[in-house]
Amino acid sequence: MRTLVRNGRAVLDGRIEPVDILVEDGRIAAVGALADATADRTLDAAGCYVLPGFMDFHTHVDDQIGRFYLADSYESGTRVALLNGITTLCTFVTQGPEGTLLEAMARARTKAEGTSHCDVLWHLTPTSFGPADLRALETLLAAGYKTFKLYTTYKGAGIYSSYDQIGGLFQRLGPQGAQFMIHCEDDGLIEAVDPASLDLGRAATHTRLRPEAAEVLAIRKVIALALAHRTSMHVVHVSTLEGAELLVRNRAHGDISFETCPQYLVLDESWLERQDGHRWLCSPPLRAERAAFRALARQGGADIIATDHCAFRPEDKDDWDRRDLRTCANGLPGLGALPHVTWKIWEDDPDRAAIGLATHLALNPARRAGLEARKGALKPGLDADLVVLDPGGPERPLGSTLVPAHEPYPGFTSKLRFRHVLLRGEPRVEDGQLLDRQPHGTLLQPATSSLSFT
Ligand SMILES: [Zn+2]
Repeated sequence: MRTLVRNGRAVLDGRIEPVDILVEDGRIAAVGALADATADRTLDAAGCYVLPGFMDFHTHVDDQIGRFYLADSYESGTRVALLNGITTLCTFVTQGPEGTLLEAMARARTKAEGTSHCDVLWHLTPTSFGPADLRALETLLAAGYKTFKLYTTYKGAGIYSSYDQIGGLFQRLGPQGAQFMIHCEDDGLIEAVDPASLDLGRAATHTRLRPEAAEVLAIRKVIALALAHRTSMHVVHVSTLEGAELLVRNRAHGDISFETCPQYLVLDESWLERQDGHRWLCSPPLRAERAAFRALARQGGADIIATDHCAFRPEDKDDWDRRDLRTCANGLPGLGALPHVTWKIWEDDPDRAAIGLATHLALNPARRAGLEARKGALKPGLDADLVVLDPGGPERPLGSTLVPAHEPYPGFTSKLRFRHVLLRGEPRVEDGQLLDRQPHGTLLQPATSSLSFT
């Protein structure tokens, strides 16, 4: 099957060019002036940008977070993703308190297989580091599981790693090509906050329980470790200007990158002051004044924009002990808002916004995931994951999820409309609607049952 996408303006190597794109057998076959090309199917992209399919580098679906089970399954999470141009969803498999990482991975595969509407890639969170655990990580790394997430906080949840453990993993797995993702909030600084001195009934107190200084200190420490071990490192969900600036400065010295999230760009801590402010709790918390942080993103400062999508049912968000905000469901959804909020960073300059989406939602995350040979750009040979984006559609409200869940962007609207979304060459979305309800996503990494662990 040959498909031709005609008359669009595509983002190629950070520039916008009027080109046609020929797709054959799921891959991009040619990009350029293709007036003479023939095809079985032609899609008109007049008036639209043509972009590589987006990747949300950081999401949580079909998992238990604290006391609550997330509202999004693989099916509903990948469905809202694909409807918004996200053709690859990256999500996490976390080793449980009793089981092994391999058991957790097998459970995730059972949930995702045959139910996912877009492609899925897993980042792995190991929580025990004995000799057999480390050998298993090496086998997984060689098989294509390249991204490992570590936390500098959350001792109570059993997912904390000390800086020594993080440095040890950098040293052992870094030379083998591992890519580390670090949640940076220094646990020592968080533990040093005395809750008895604070009003825990107010949502806004969250910013004092998890202060900016904790993020900045953890970032400073892991940068030093990454540079010392010459390791690739990516810091997830950066919320502070100081932390972001530290990372930007140190990018010159090593393979260091970071992401921020839509909520840290357009929401601030005043949302926590609302009567229902507890619904906006997330970690790290929403912060004060955002203009300088947004300006840094506008200059391309954040390598990746990703959501940290974590959808809770409204009744779960409201199920908390009003005397202690630490009992509240902690996280915000964002999959359905990601391209729309990212667009707003450069809204006054649509060409720049289109380049911003191609860079921060496709090219950079594909590189960080180790997928640059398959995804992230409009180049012959790569998967034909294509977004035909009309920037002038009717204004409509943002919807972060399709399932009943707390919506963190009430009153926000967007004119972006997805005229076509192609997943590996097949049109799956047209004019903002799924063309069929069958899930066509693939799992991008091999089943662990196909690997041999010694
Ligand atoms: Zn997360």
